[in-house]
Amino acid sequence: MSNTNNNTGLECPNCKGKIKFSFEDLLYKNYIICPFCALKMEMTIPESMKKHLVEIMEAEKKIKSLKNTIDDASLQKQLQELDLLDISKYMVPSKNQ
Ligand SMILES: [Zn+2]
Repeated sequence: MSNTNNNTGLECPNCKGKIKFSFEDLLYKNYIICPFCALKMEMTIPESMKKHLVEIMEAEKKIKSLKNTIDDASLQKQLQELDLLDISKYMVPSKNQ
């Protein structure tokens, strides 16, 4: 496997698995659970960042209303612009589940 540049997702700090997430996950969940090792990570995304995410999400939905999905490349580009690819900095592994 080459670099992770082509993959949108959070690298699990525990098992290094690639955790896929959506805008909805970022906005409406307070945590993400790694599907590989079940590590629970609490998300503390700043409100200002969430506002940007909502705006992007609404715009993407209009553009892609026929497909009703956001493709990875587009998602990654938007996240990159928001400096959100390194979203792990907003997450704290939670030991107590
Ligand atoms: Zn994991």
